[in-house]
Amino acid sequence: MALMRSFFLACSQSTWMRERATRYPFVRRAVSKFMPGETADAALSAAQSLQEASIGTVFTHLGENIKDPAEAERVTTHYIEVLDRIRAMGLRTEVSVKLTQLGLDLGADLCYQNLRRIVLHAGAQSVVWIDMEASNYVDATLDLYRRAIAEFPNTGVCVQAYLYRTRQDVESLIPLGGAIRLVKGAYQEPPEVAYPRKADVDENYFALTQLLLGSDARSHGLRAALATHDVNLIRRIIERTELQGLEKSSFEFQMLYGIQRAEQLRLARAGWKSVVLIAYGSYWFPWYMRRLAERPANVLFVLRSLFAS
Ligand SMILES: Cc1cc2nc3c(=O)[nH]c(=O)nc-3n(C[C@H](O)[C@H](O)[C@H](O)COP(=O)(O)OP(=O)(O)OC[C@H]3O[C@@H](n4cnc5c(N)ncnc54)[C@H](O)[C@@H]3O)c2cc1C
Repeated sequence: MALMRSFFLACSQSTWMRERATRYPFVRRAVSKFMPGETADAALSAAQSLQEASIGTVFTHLGENIKDPAEAERVTTHYIEVLDRIRAMGLRTEVSVKLTQLGLDLGADLCYQNLRRIVLHAGAQSVVWIDMEASNYVDATLDLYRRAIAEFPNTGVCVQAYLYRTRQDVESLIPLGGAIRLVKGAYQEPPEVAYPRKADVDENYFALTQLLLGSDARSHGLRAALATHDVNLIRRIIERTELQGLEKSSFEFQMLYGIQRAEQLRLARAGWKSVVLIAYGSYWFPWYMRRLAERPANVLFVLRSLFAS
């Protein structure tokens, strides 16, 4: 399993693979399990259907490590236009951005100006989420999140349970209020910075939920989003919140489009806040490789798509 994970995470960084694999129709068919389509239209129509099922949505336009300021500017404009379309359609969809897609590699100030435009445009009622990327970006990402939250309360950031440092980060972020999305973590990280064993990541995830749902976090008005498809963890979290007497509306579960659909619906029907992140765009290869790394059984879908051709 660990070998498969490393293999797909290595593929996610290979330009050679990206340029070739994305040409094959069977790979494109397989990725459609996780994406309603490459266009914003496809994402908007999926969000509308999910809203009818009382499931909220967050959009992310796929892309990362932009090297050209004009490209970062185009991505920013895209998000601004999509926010307008979301509003025009009466959707409660929010957006989630990768800072390296807004130009972080070109400079923190340039990136911040792009982020700022999106957060301003989203308006006070709509959180703009910041994805967390590989561990070498954590400091820069949290610095920009701190800068943004000082100006705009409608900003949120993702933190990763596989990193040893995350507990300390969460403790320092809670007094800022804002919004935190907790995930396990999707990148290849060395044992010096991240728990190598999945069981330790899962335990740390659960321990961090206790911080995010604790009285300190609630007194600072923190919005907690627990992003996982792990039904055991979800069950443990629900049991604990029921013991603590927390209201169902005091936090939310987030999942990815196409994964654990039945659980997304079950949670929504049971009155929990259930939110689905919809990714779209043509730059899907690295993102898709991370989905395969999470669950090598997904490779079976790729093979099935090959034989379905
Ligand atoms: C809303 C959202 C936002 C995210 N944002 C980030 C981010 O900013 N930075 C980051 O590093 N990571 C992000 N991730 C990914 C995250 O780090 C994990 O890699 C991913 O969620 C898998 O972990 P898990 O908690 O679902 O648990 P796992 O233990 O990996 O999976 C639990 C179960 O969920 C199902 N499952 C999980 N993944 C898949 C899959 N790909 N295909 C099919 N079934 C699957 C399987 O049944 C599996 O047994 C995000 C995830 C979500 C849901």
